[in-house]
Amino acid sequence: MSEPAYILDSTAFYAGIPYQGSGRYYTTYLVLEEVKHHNVGASLIHSRVQVTEPSPESLTRVRGTATKTGDIGALSQTDLSLLALSLDLMNSEGGASLVTDDFAVRNVAEVLSIPLAQTSLKGGEWRNITWKIYCRGCGKTYTNPKLTVCPVCGTQLVRKASSS
Ligand SMILES: [Zn+2]
Repeated sequence: MSEPAYILDSTAFYAGIPYQGSGRYYTTYLVLEEVKHHNVGASLIHSRVQVTEPSPESLTRVRGTATKTGDIGALSQTDLSLLALSLDLMNSEGGASLVTDDFAVRNVAEVLSIPLAQTSLKGGEWRNITWKIYCRGCGKTYTNPKLTVCPVCGTQLVRKASSS
């Protein structure tokens, strides 16, 4: 058996998953674009994470499924690319777990039989990592990974991975 393979979304990077444990890591170019702006070490990404473009066939299939489940409106282009890459890896790599905490992404993944993992997986190798989203303006903290701007004061939110 080969080591486990994981597909990482942005929150998985913020949680520090590619920097610990063993395993093969994959992501898409759209995710890379997102995390670039959050001080994620680019050299580390290139040494430990394989960045791959999903096939157009899988993207079409993911869009079709997300439309049927009603999740399409909640999914970004990045989300769609991760789901499509997961489908590709099911064929070429014998499966890889998609690491995401996003409800809509998980919902579509389940319909497509894509294996899932969470950044906050209990009992898993990542249990000691939590991440916080907080506002430098008013000091409020949030847990919703989709938030980028503070709903209270409008300040850009800051993410921080921390060990607990
Ligand atoms: Zn605020």
